[in-house]
Amino acid sequence: MAKTVSCRDVGADCDFVARGNSEDEIMQTLSEHARTDHQMSEIPTELAARARAAIHDEAA
Ligand SMILES: [Zn+2]
Repeated sequence: MAKTVSCRDVGADCDFVARGNSEDEIMQTLSEHARTDHQMSEIPTELAARARAAIHDEAA
């Protein structure tokens, strides 16, 4: 089952949703999005931990 996390899940006012088959895949998608759309050169450790904790199985 695919996993997913949205920017909203970590408190950002943004409709971006990252999905993938593993946490690492999602974190990579999310960090790319943060870099291009949120002008974050790097996701802060605290935010990354919050995002990782918010990753959940995609509803069928
Ligand atoms: Zn976003």
